[in-house]
Amino acid sequence: MKNVLIPYVLLHGDPVVKTIVERMLDENIQTIRPQLTERGISYPLLEDLGTNGSVESAKSLLEDLVANGVFERKLIDRIVLCPSCKGYLIRSKYHCPKCDSFNIEQVSFIEHTMCGYIDSRKKFEKGDELVCPKCVGRLSVKDSRPIGQSFECNPCGFRFDSPKIVEQCNTCGEHFGSREAVYSPIFEYIFTEEAKNALSKGTLLLSMIEESLKEEGFEVTLRGSLPGKSGVEHRFDVIAKRGEELLAANLSFDATNEDLTSLFAKKYDTSPKYSMLISLSKPAPPTVAISESYGIMVVSGSKPSEITEKLKQIVKPPSVPK
Ligand SMILES: [Zn+2]
Ligand SMILES: [Zn+2]
Ligand SMILES: [Zn+2]
Repeated sequence: MKNVLIPYVLLHGDPVVKTIVERMLDENIQTIRPQLTERGISYPLLEDLGTNGSVESAKSLLEDLVANGVFERKLIDRIVLCPSCKGYLIRSKYHCPKCDSFNIEQVSFIEHTMCGYIDSRKKFEKGDELVCPKCVGRLSVKDSRPIGQSFECNPCGFRFDSPKIVEQCNTCGEHFGSREAVYSPIFEYIFTEEAKNALSKGTLLLSMIEESLKEEGFEVTLRGSLPGKSGVEHRFDVIAKRGEELLAANLSFDATNEDLTSLFAKKYDTSPKYSMLISLSKPAPPTVAISESYGIMVVSGSKPSEITEKLKQIVKPPSVPK
């Protein structure tokens, strides 16, 4: 199914998708990268381009494009988000596992090797010196041994290795633990191989069409727009002018009735001499019948060269007998 969907999305999908894909091709962008903002993970490239700056709409658009086989996503990181506001400005705090106080300290333990007594360093401190609370002997570097570090709760005295981690959201103030946290994946989005192929075919075909129309004396604009009588601007994949003659064409991978209907509306408003739907696959007979009633030529062929040959035949000026 993917092979059918990709060209569909790329060519007839939503205009926002078209703009994004065109911009990526123009600027040779292969990957849509995330960025962290106060609002969480965002995709700046998409927010510039008609998703109204909304993080949510940019994300759902990307997920649609993944479902349609245009992009594949790559997990690049994970991030802790606030469960209540989805903010990412989070402060981690350590609490006592017993009484839940935030007032805990890291303590280091030492052993008085002369008598074997072990306690926190604090308990040994007497002014500038270390004195053993058990045998009251003074500790020198030689007869003290560091044992390691741990946590101690100031209010309840409980000692522990792993504190309870409490996150606090800087944006809304919510407190939450790792169970409530949203541990969200961060993806970047890359064109699939199928999409790259479909795009390169479309691009190749367009440049061949441009070339052959120029040979026939046309001035050609690719992916441009024409003003209609209604005042609406209509986008076409190919716009070509030769004197008073105007040609407007759209590319389609599968020449559907929807393509024809949408082209007919544009044709009606802009009245070019030649209106064409150029397709890499042969249209079904009912589609041909519709195209005839609309006055739209369907130019199809399995290879780009076959299409450009047909195109040249159509636009060749009739030879004037001398
Ligand atoms: Zn405690
Ligand atoms: Zn001692
Ligand atoms: Zn929050």
